[in-house]
Amino acid sequence: MTHKVIATDMIIIGTGPVGLFAVFEAGLLGLKCHLIDNLDRPGGQCIELYPEKPIYDIPSRPTVTGEELVADLMTQASPFDPTFHLSQQAEALERQPNGHWRVTTTLGTVIEAPIIVVAVGAGSFVPKKPPFKKLPDFEEKSVDYAVHKMEKYRDKRLVIVGGGDSALDWAINLAPIAARVTLVHRRAEFRGAHDTAQQLLALAGKGDLDVLYGNVTDMSGDNGQLSQLEVTTLDGDVKQVDCDYMLPFMGLKVKLGPIAQWGLNLDRKHVQVKPETFETTQEGIYAIGDVCTYPGKIKLILTGFYEAAVMARSAFKYAFPDRKMAGGYTTTNSVIQERLGVGDK
Ligand SMILES: Cc1cc2nc3c(=O)[nH]c(=O)nc-3n(C[C@H](O)[C@H](O)[C@H](O)COP(=O)(O)OP(=O)(O)OC[C@H]3O[C@@H](n4cnc5c(N)ncnc54)[C@H](O)[C@@H]3O)c2cc1C
Repeated sequence: MTHKVIATDMIIIGTGPVGLFAVFEAGLLGLKCHLIDNLDRPGGQCIELYPEKPIYDIPSRPTVTGEELVADLMTQASPFDPTFHLSQQAEALERQPNGHWRVTTTLGTVIEAPIIVVAVGAGSFVPKKPPFKKLPDFEEKSVDYAVHKMEKYRDKRLVIVGGGDSALDWAINLAPIAARVTLVHRRAEFRGAHDTAQQLLALAGKGDLDVLYGNVTDMSGDNGQLSQLEVTTLDGDVKQVDCDYMLPFMGLKVKLGPIAQWGLNLDRKHVQVKPETFETTQEGIYAIGDVCTYPGKIKLILTGFYEAAVMARSAFKYAFPDRKMAGGYTTTNSVIQERLGVGDK
């Protein structure tokens, strides 16, 4: 299928806190942004790794959780109407004859802009996959690495694989709605929180779910739809477990991914930038947030916010040298206030 080329001012790769704040800073200058993330929702590490943990070092927010911070950044960016392309990885980058950059994603979305902002943090989060030989036969239809809607699993037979917090939490949460939940873990100790493990074992004791210590040794089903898993327990017993969905929760790993091939100067998986502009060695490509490096870099959300502000101004001057930049303060500049939709206040 050929996809239409979308033209915009700025393509932001990564919707972590820093990518989201870059929408705001670019928006103040009148720039329209398209964002790409391989996760299915914005928020980066804050949402994926610690949504409910309080953060204590965001200026003027004595405490804010990862989830609250991302919700507020989305609200702050909303006057500028950013477009999100989620669940797809920015894969290919090509320079066009007019000097603009064209990004193609793994879902075939094609976007062109004079400015690319690499805000990819440590890279793409990808789930660690179990080493089961037949896994690829079932991955499309009946293996899920994340729970997006619990309702999908109502009255289904689920096998959850893993012993960390996600595996334990989902086994407990899905047990009341699934037809049956079986947790398979390779040893009789859990990595997840002690209290959660106790809660899980109590439910198993009451017969509300099953826990098997051992490994999945075979998978069977038709046309990608699982029907049964073979589990070999630590005692050597071989059990057949009926299964509609397998949910492996074995943790996430982070990979810089395709960006490593984009001809940017890298220093131990970080993109080198000029700290006065956040330009990379490629004209029109900027890097901000955890992924960028320069002398004195501190990897914090607050430094990423500052980097977004400097980047937006320097990228504006590079891409639109003939346009007048709205300078000054949000408190006093009427052009900026109009863009924010607060003109008459
Ligand atoms: C447990 C924990 C606690 C923390 N606590 C604090 C704290 O208290 N204070 C603080 O300041 N910082 C804290 N941090 C660090 C903070 O989360 C990071 O500094 C911040 O998330 C960096 O933001 P970012 O936008 O640069 O990148 P990220 O949040 O990493 O977001 C990058 C996004 O880019 C996406 N991506 C990557 N490659 C691609 C690609 N090729 N295509 C599409 N999308 C891509 C990723 O999926 C991800 O969503 C903590 C981190 C952790 C893990």
